[in-house]
Amino acid sequence: MSAPMTPAEWRAALKAEGVPFTEYSGWTSRGRDAATGKAFGPVHGVLNHHTAGSNSLAAVAVDGAPALPAPLAHTFLPKSGVAVLVSCHRANHAGLAALNSYTAILNETAIPRPSKASGTVDGNDALYGIEVENLGNGTDRYTRAQYDTWVRWNAALCRHHGWGAGSCAGHLETSVEGKVDPLGPVEGYGKRGPFTFTMKQLRADVAERLAHPASWSPEQASTPQEITVEGPSYVNLGLEHSYQLAPGSWDEIGFTEEWSDELGQHPVAGDVFVVGPARFTGSLSLRFEGLGVGEVVQVRMSEWEGATLKALHPIHEVIGTPGGTYSVLPLVKRLGAGRSMRVRLLNQGAGGIEVASAVLTALVWKES
Ligand SMILES: [Zn+2]
Repeated sequence: MSAPMTPAEWRAALKAEGVPFTEYSGWTSRGRDAATGKAFGPVHGVLNHHTAGSNSLAAVAVDGAPALPAPLAHTFLPKSGVAVLVSCHRANHAGLAALNSYTAILNETAIPRPSKASGTVDGNDALYGIEVENLGNGTDRYTRAQYDTWVRWNAALCRHHGWGAGSCAGHLETSVEGKVDPLGPVEGYGKRGPFTFTMKQLRADVAERLAHPASWSPEQASTPQEITVEGPSYVNLGLEHSYQLAPGSWDEIGFTEEWSDELGQHPVAGDVFVVGPARFTGSLSLRFEGLGVGEVVQVRMSEWEGATLKALHPIHEVIGTPGGTYSVLPLVKRLGAGRSMRVRLLNQGAGGIEVASAVLTALVWKES
């Protein structure tokens, strides 16, 4: 049933939805089907990407990336907002998709965090892909024209196949290879001013289009839309399990749990909690078990460039108290470009202690 759209169906669906587009030479025959021996389709959804570069048309259409032959999507969407059709066949854009998130896209249910353990599928078999021009550095903006076309393009494909907005996903929602795209601020849309891109918002905007005829324009929205100001990202990290901290050597806290309203809103998880250039302010709540009364654990931020330790920040001392030790420490810093920040602990007590919990909460303002 869900056969990939033919060139004629592409043109008709995009035209009806008001998508401005051009056709890159050879787009109706270009694809990876013959080279891989795997035909594109049946199709089950739409995957959205940012290019993490500029002027990527040739790369997406014909040049490809290292070890990744083109086409790298079906459509390239530059800042101008005029989409370029580069393929209607198999394209190299999705990589391995986690089965749990892929299944959710098929069923149009809430997309869970992609789990490699759930199994994987080749997303290029069944997902349309669009590469949207953006540096992906958190400050480069999607233009108004670009975002409007982006919404229309997703809606056109969904309308053609009879899908809802739940069939639209972001690469970060399916990838088991650590992809974070698409991300970035948006200049505006319809009656809305600047806001931060999220898949949740894109799906809401696609759903709104689909609730109207294809000729609808977002300026016609009768109800005021939610205005999201371009603001800080919220970072909230913790530990899934407590761990033991031996005495005498510095150890970075490896966060294993992340609270999120929407995937991909946080700069990074793991032991790095922020990447520069950025300013951040927040706190770290710590609870230790087994730290002797009056014994000390030192806590300090450690600043890195890649794998090289570049700076250590002032030491906070946490002093053991009876019945477990609890402390809240401030985290404030302006972090330069290319630097990353971790928090390290030094157990100065006589024996091993348990780090029972470590909860980091911060607001991060990315800088250009
Ligand atoms: Zn991608």
